Amino acid sequence: MFMISSTPQQLKNRIRDNILDIRERIEKACASVGRNPDEVRLMVVTKTFPPEVINLALECNIDLIGENKVQELMSKLEYLCPKDVEKHIIGHLQRNKVKQVLPHVSMIQSVDSIKLACEISKQSERLGKNTNVLIQINVGDEETKTGFSVDETEEALFQIAEMPNITIEGLMSIPPICETESEIRKYFSELNKIFIDKKDKIYHNKSMTVLSIGMTSDYEAAIKEGSTLIRIGSGIFGQRDY
Ligand SMILES: *Cc1c(COP(=O)(O)O)cnc(C)c1O
Repeated sequence: MFMISSTPQQLKNRIRDNILDIRERIEKACASVGRNPDEVRLMVVTKTFPPEVINLALECNIDLIGENKVQELMSKLEYLCPKDVEKHIIGHLQRNKVKQVLPHVSMIQSVDSIKLACEISKQSERLGKNTNVLIQINVGDEETKTGFSVDETEEALFQIAEMPNITIEGLMSIPPICETESEIRKYFSELNKIFIDKKDKIYHNKSMTVLSIGMTSDYEAAIKEGSTLIRIGSGIFGQRDY
């Protein structure tokens, strides 16, 4: 992997070049469908990468990182520079970790059950804070993925919208792996339709503004179908070593 064989300066240049390339592609994808690139936020997904590598990305105008696991996030917190960079949880969150993680993140993108939303609401109330969340949709109905099915989404949104100290800011999804761009665009387009439909219906949540779709392999397709937040890991840091 290039991380290990590179000098710190080479690594830094590589990360910077990757980020510049992604920003250029975001602009092109936006231009191709008449969108303003300011509508698309770039999140750097930091799972498996150490803080000293993450900090190289944070030197390149990155203001948002995503981690999948609470334990991993906690172990990196004190080494991040700047420490207060905005952080989101993007992986399946166990209810018994909610209390620990809430003080450190500004959003939970991976709300995949009513029970989890209840716990976030309860712990947020205790902390005297409000927590922003995205509702995760399992758009391909895959057994290996968590999230609400398309059919369950509306009811879930209504229930969670009633909970105190929690604000639904939008939707998040990871569609199935697809062979072709047109196939993946169908999933993204379906998600955008749900997003537009539900934000009108959930009148308690006028704040529903985030559609978190698109990763390294498919973010341009996601942008063309309305993504407002793309989550990129390997496209910036290289392949992950698990
Ligand atoms: C790992 C991960 C990403 C980033 O994936 P890449 O293909 O490395 O860009 C995005 N979203 C979620 C939820 C992830 O777990």
